[in-house]
Amino acid sequence: MRMQCEKCSVELHEKSDAYICVHECTYCSTCTSEMNHVCMNCNGELVRRPKAGAQILSCSISK
Ligand SMILES: [Zn+2]
Ligand SMILES: [Zn+2]
Repeated sequence: MRMQCEKCSVELHEKSDAYICVHECTYCSTCTSEMNHVCMNCNGELVRRPKAGAQILSCSISK
């Protein structure tokens, strides 16, 4: 799990809002909004990273 935004290098803690693409490029929520949820490295879709310790009940949560 990466702990820094790849764009602005802000620190991302386990429980902070972070977004990842399929290649696990990691971004903060601010950069993710700026990029319209598209990874600047691979053009993949960015999705919210599960928070450490969070229970994942379903794979289809999209909000
Ligand atoms: Zn950032
Ligand atoms: Zn990527």
